[in-house]
Amino acid sequence: MPILRVSTKCSICNKEKLDVYGDHGVMCGWSNDRISRHNNLVATIESACSAAALHPKREPQLLMANGLRPDLLLTTFSLARDAILDIAVTCPTQDKYIMMSASKPLFAANTYAATVKDNKYTTAAQIAGVDFYAMVVETTGGWCESATIVINKLTKLLAAREEEPLPKIRLQVYQQLSVCLQRANSIMILKRLPHTDWHPDL
Ligand SMILES: [Zn+2]
Repeated sequence: MPILRVSTKCSICNKEKLDVYGDHGVMCGWSNDRISRHNNLVATIESACSAAALHPKREPQLLMANGLRPDLLLTTFSLARDAILDIAVTCPTQDKYIMMSASKPLFAANTYAATVKDNKYTTAAQIAGVDFYAMVVETTGGWCESATIVINKLTKLLAAREEEPLPKIRLQVYQQLSVCLQRANSIMILKRLPHTDWHPDL
């Protein structure tokens, strides 16, 4: 859905074009918006992990020798092994992903998870005796395969702990994550719009 009458220049970086769909708005690297979006998602995942008694620890030190600082450490996550999670947001409409993203669901999230996060963490995690899971979400809301594994396991634990049906708990967790992501995206787009060019339907 178009949010502008005509494309314009991003009012924050003053460099990139903000097209009528606001695509640049959710990937603009200026100001701290992308960091805030990431940190809010980490906090939402951390909160769900706490509720599931996984005792999450922020930015654990166990990979510091490799210069790595993943987002979360979970205690006895799967098969009595600890797990580290690193969370990221990627945009399927960026130039390097847009062609493949148009035909292959979750191409951007899965590619980013494999080529950036897995390359960075997997070997170091194996040496440290923990499992690594990349949790990459596309700005449009789809999570990569390894994130889905985490969310499936996490929601099973939560449902058992709270004695609630699994579909209900899984829906709640995805809703919480989605609201967190789209709220941050909305803030990013709105901050970058020249107010006089807002679409009349907004
Ligand atoms: Zn910008």
